[in-house]
Amino acid sequence: MDWKVKYINYPMQFKNHEKDYMAIINDVLTKGDLILRGQLKSFEENLAKFCGTRFAVGVSNCTNALYLSLYSAGIHPGDEIITVSHTFVATIEAIHHLNAKPVFVDIADDHNINVDLIERSITSKTKAIVPVHLNGRICSNMGKLVEIAERYDLTIIEDAAQALGASYKEKKAGSFGLAGCFSFYPAKLLGAFGDGGAVVTNDEDFANTIKLLRNHGRGPDGEIAMWGSNCRIDNLQAAILDFKLELLSKWIKRRRELANLYNKLLSDVQEVKLPPPPQVEGDHFDVYQNFEVEANNRDDLVKHLNKKGIEVMLPWGGKGVHQFKALRLGHYSLPRTEEFFKRALMLPMYPELKDEQIEFVINTIREFYGVG
Ligand SMILES: *Cc1c(COP(=O)(O)O)cnc(C)c1O
Repeated sequence: MDWKVKYINYPMQFKNHEKDYMAIINDVLTKGDLILRGQLKSFEENLAKFCGTRFAVGVSNCTNALYLSLYSAGIHPGDEIITVSHTFVATIEAIHHLNAKPVFVDIADDHNINVDLIERSITSKTKAIVPVHLNGRICSNMGKLVEIAERYDLTIIEDAAQALGASYKEKKAGSFGLAGCFSFYPAKLLGAFGDGGAVVTNDEDFANTIKLLRNHGRGPDGEIAMWGSNCRIDNLQAAILDFKLELLSKWIKRRRELANLYNKLLSDVQEVKLPPPPQVEGDHFDVYQNFEVEANNRDDLVKHLNKKGIEVMLPWGGKGVHQFKALRLGHYSLPRTEEFFKRALMLPMYPELKDEQIEFVINTIREFYGVG
C-alpha cells in the first residue's frame, strides 16, 4: 500500500542526516572500534547527563535492561512485582524469566498505572514496583508512588522505554528509583539502527554490577567476578546514538508541536478522547513517544483512515499482556485496561511529519464522525 501518511518513516529519518551518519560509521569502522569502546563511554556520559542521573550503562536492549536491573536488585523466584498489563510484553518477560510473579494493577485515565490502586495489591511477597511511563508521559502521581515504595520498602525499577526526556516536577524519567530502563529500538524517541538499550541509576555499585553482567561478569582486568551474560550494546550503535542524542531535544519539541496540533483541531470531537496537551508550566513535561487516543467505533475508524491512505496502529495488536492466553498469567480483573484496549488507537507521531499531514489525519477523523 502506498500510504499518504505512514505510521513511521525510517528512510526519511535517515535521509535527513545521511551525511552525518555515514561519516560516523566510516570513522568507527576505520578505527575498528566495535565492542565497548570510547564512543560508548561518551554516549553513556551524555545519556546520564541528559537523564539527570550519575550513571548510564548501555546494554543490548530494554528487555535486558529490565532483566538485569531486576536481577541486580535482588529479585528472587516467587517475589511479586507490581506493574501494569497495558505495556509491551517485554516488561513482563523480564519478571517471568526471574521466576518472579507480575501483579497487575489497573490503569488510570492517563493510560498508566493507577497509583491509587497500588497499595491494595501489596503483600508480604511484594519486592518491587515497575511503573511504565507509556507514550512519553510519566505516571501521574509519581510522588505518591515513590512514597508508597518507601513506606513498604519496595524497589522502583522504571520501564522508561517510551519516556526518554520526559519529566515530572522537574525530575527526569528513569531517575525516580533504583534504576530506569530505556530502549533505543528504532521507533523509540532515540532510535538506533537496530537494537539498543540502557540502564540509568544514581547507585555506583548497581551501575558497576550492570556493567559486569552485560559482559560475561568480566571486569576490566579480565577477571570473572560473577556469572554474567552477553548483553552488550554495539559500539557502532552507541556512536550513532551519541550523535542523535544531541538532536533529541529538537525532535521532542517537534513532537510537542504535533501533539498541540492534534489537540487544537480534535478537542471538539466528542467521540475521541485525547491525551493531555503539552504543558508549558505544570508538573508534566510529556515527550509524545506515541499519540494514543481512545475512539468510539474504533475498528471502523481504522478502516476509514486506512482507506484514505493513513497508517495507524493498535497498541500491541489490541491486547493487554494478561490477555495473551499462551502466557498463562492467570485471571486478572482489570476492567479499565480491558475497556481501554477496545478503544485504543495510535495516530502517526514522529518529528518528520509535516503539519499538512497531521491536518489531513485530523480532517479524515472529523469527516468519519461527521464533525464539520
Ligand atoms: C519498546 C519497549 C520495551 C522493550 O524495548 P526493547 O529495546 O525492544 O527490548 C519495553 N517496554 C516498553 C514499554 C517498550 O515500549
